[in-house]
Amino acid sequence: MSTPKSPQTTLVHSDYTAPGGFAAFPTAIHHASTVLFSSVAALRSRSWQDKSAYTYGLHGTPTSFTLEARLAEIEDGKHCVLAPSGLAAIALVDFALLKSGDDVLIPDNVYSPSRELGNWLARDFGIAVRYYDPLAGAGIAALIRPNTRLVWAEAPGSVSMEVPDLPAICRAAHEKGVLVALDNTWSAGVALRAFDLGVDIVMQALTKYQSGGSDVLMGALVTRDTALHRKLEAAHMRLGFGIGMDDAYLVLRSLPTLKLRFAAHDEGARKVAAWLKGRPEIARVLHPALPECPGHEYWRRDFSGAGGLFSIIFDARYSEEQTDRFVDSLKLFKIGFSWGGSNSLAVPYRMQAMRSSWQDAGQLVRLNIGLEDPDDLIADLELALRMLTG
Ligand SMILES: *Cc1c(COP(=O)(O)O)cnc(C)c1O
Repeated sequence: MSTPKSPQTTLVHSDYTAPGGFAAFPTAIHHASTVLFSSVAALRSRSWQDKSAYTYGLHGTPTSFTLEARLAEIEDGKHCVLAPSGLAAIALVDFALLKSGDDVLIPDNVYSPSRELGNWLARDFGIAVRYYDPLAGAGIAALIRPNTRLVWAEAPGSVSMEVPDLPAICRAAHEKGVLVALDNTWSAGVALRAFDLGVDIVMQALTKYQSGGSDVLMGALVTRDTALHRKLEAAHMRLGFGIGMDDAYLVLRSLPTLKLRFAAHDEGARKVAAWLKGRPEIARVLHPALPECPGHEYWRRDFSGAGGLFSIIFDARYSEEQTDRFVDSLKLFKIGFSWGGSNSLAVPYRMQAMRSSWQDAGQLVRLNIGLEDPDDLIADLELALRMLTG
């Protein structure tokens, strides 16, 4: 008899069983390019899409199948496809679902490499790519054309932090038969029930919280609909987007602590954000849990947590040179892309160059709050703020 378990419990208790006579907690790392068949008949009868059997390393081994199943479980989805990076997972969606003559809507605050990919699809692949106001909500209905196939959303935008009205976007898209794909990396899948809000495809950069060690690149696409999963899987096979089993193991190893780490990032980030909000040098703190963050009301309605990533906008009296000196003066916060690892990071962004519609004159710096003591991070920020004018 098994009783229903919470996601936290199922992350700790895997269904994997080791070979007879051996018992330990970790999933074994099964490396393989060649997978062996017992006979020609077995080789001929086995389908690469059949998850109850194995055919070739590109399509997975018991290690990656285990990871896929657990990621689908976290999101409350049914299927999962792994890709060699978060960006590869985004590309997989675009190449699986779009063809020449189609139209795709991408939020204007989207993760920049996804925009770069969109521009490439428009320039070289005959796909119409349009960027929409991330706060358009139900208004997206007016943008949908007869050839629109896909709407991307990012919740929230991972630099400027606008939280979209996902249920409104999904309703408007579905009314016109258009699919919605969500970059759900910010919530790690633990603080947003994306499928319950209507999303069709959940994308995760496992590079962030799921791996948690700043040492792995991987992406995932989770779906509930089997026909949609088959399309993604076919593109995965055609593009040859295999992943390494050592990397899959590293993500599996980190999953049991995912919720606990996320909660710790969240608690630390809220403390640091609240402190920054009280500082005269800072004009705005773009943290979805703060009322001044655009779309905060949707965060309150739809999310159960916030993680460690948010941005600050300096008072417009500080030049880029001054805020660069602030970032350079930080000691505990290191300078580097990505997030979701144990170490705090700071990255300045040139918003006017990224978004033609960007209104704020102040400099934006994005912070990833790691797992250090938040009071030490605040002390680090306080010293660096003094260097603004020093
Ligand atoms: C990091 C990130 C990605 C891409 O992940 P990679 O594994 O670095 O390719 C996509 N979307 C968001 C929001 C991200 O933060």
